[in-house]
Amino acid sequence: MKEKQKTGNWFWDAVYPRRCPVCDGLLSQKEPYLCRNCVEKIHPIHGARCKKCGKPVEDEAEFCRDCSRTRHSFDRGFAPYSYHGELEASLMRFKYHERQEYAGFYAHAACRYVGSQIRRRNAEVLVPVPIHPARRRYRGYNQAEVFAKRLSEEFQIPMNAHLIRRVKRTKPQKELDPAERRKNLENAFALEKPGQMKYRRILLVDDIYTTGSTVDALAALLKKNGAVQVDFLCAAIVK
Ligand SMILES: [Zn+2]
Ligand SMILES: [Zn+2]
Repeated sequence: MKEKQKTGNWFWDAVYPRRCPVCDGLLSQKEPYLCRNCVEKIHPIHGARCKKCGKPVEDEAEFCRDCSRTRHSFDRGFAPYSYHGELEASLMRFKYHERQEYAGFYAHAACRYVGSQIRRRNAEVLVPVPIHPARRRYRGYNQAEVFAKRLSEEFQIPMNAHLIRRVKRTKPQKELDPAERRKNLENAFALEKPGQMKYRRILLVDDIYTTGSTVDALAALLKKNGAVQVDFLCAAIVK
């Protein structure tokens, strides 16, 4: 299996040369994830993290400002990076400009920096945050699903990208304030097969965590249908 994967990678590397997720330059065989100029440019979250959403907190506070005020429907959140600097442009290319290959870098980082915490949560399945089918057709892929697929290989946890579908074409969340965000997401998601949810511990996967309203809407839906633990993992979290 391992050997086959290696051969597969070699083939794909020749057809689609791998690129550095930070500067987008081509990677050599000796640079598995980042080019040598970018290795020192980005750093994972270190130090104290919010015990709820996982974002960095100052002065050893237990929860971030948001989580101490907001009642979230999800249980725990994990992210290797905070969303700033070089990673903003990287994640934009990953999401909108066909750089699906960056998923390998982000999945590896998640495994390396938050992997042990994730494993302790014992999720049965990885569920990518769905995008509306019209948006998927336009963009060609769902970056959360591409990311979840690589995570599934890293963590050896199955992925189910067909558990939930997005039934409402929502406005981009970034244009809205928190109350509008929640309103925007009302009835935005539905189970693909209502009444047949078999998972109890679920790990939602997305590229970026901003206010948590999307993850909350999904967690509430899943818990209404029998889930007892709904966590999320994203590549980067907004501070
Ligand atoms: Zn680079
Ligand atoms: Zn928090």
